[in-house]
Amino acid sequence: MPSYAFPPPQQPAVAVRGTSMLFPARRVYCVGRNYAAHAIEMGHDPNREPPFFFMKTPDALLPDGGTFPYPTETEDVHHEVEMVVALEKGGRDIPEADALDLVFGYGVGIDFTRRDLQAEAKKLARPWEVGKAFDHAAPCGPLARAAEIGHPTKGAVTLDVNGARRQTGDLDQLIWTVPEMIAYLSRLFELAPGDLIFTGTPSGVGPVARGDALNGAVEGVGELRVTVG
Ligand code: MN
Repeated sequence: MPSYAFPPPQQPAVAVRGTSMLFPARRVYCVGRNYAAHAIEMGHDPNREPPFFFMKTPDALLPDGGTFPYPTETEDVHHEVEMVVALEKGGRDIPEADALDLVFGYGVGIDFTRRDLQAEAKKLARPWEVGKAFDHAAPCGPLARAAEIGHPTKGAVTLDVNGARRQTGDLDQLIWTVPEMIAYLSRLFELAPGDLIFTGTPSGVGPVARGDALNGAVEGVGELRVTVG
């Protein structure tokens, strides 16, 4: 067996609430514009167009929140609170009716975005990684197991900054539901245990500043606290 040239990187992982287990993360998929009110605030048509996806790298996960270091090369970092779906099974061409069988549990995440760099990338038709997949760009709270909480389809999705409510939505406003997202993604990629899906953000996205205390919550799922460093 050949040995590694240097020790392999640590496996990115997210806590599982109420246990000492960690959920080992493989890929981090994100859905764009999945709430009509957010599509409108970003200047897009809120009608049901096919979903689109981008990715963050698993090493960008910031498990349990904590301190999010303000990133470099930006003057406009936005918060996007989202429900996160964690898969414990995978496959291709998953029918919607079977999609929830893949789900391990749910968490609360923040899809931090360097909005200025994303806007430039959009304008120049360049890829989004610099705006979306930078270091620590994906805080994710502990996962609540589906065996414990079921599969939430309704419940407030909120984000407070320094105690003031900034984002409000409800899981029942998702344009593409969790089974629809899983079915759609599984036609584009082979899904596997460890995959996470950030399901899109409700309206009210906005900039954060150093020192801000963020509290994201999804009713029936959990909470996530992040301080901007
Ligand atoms: Mn997002």
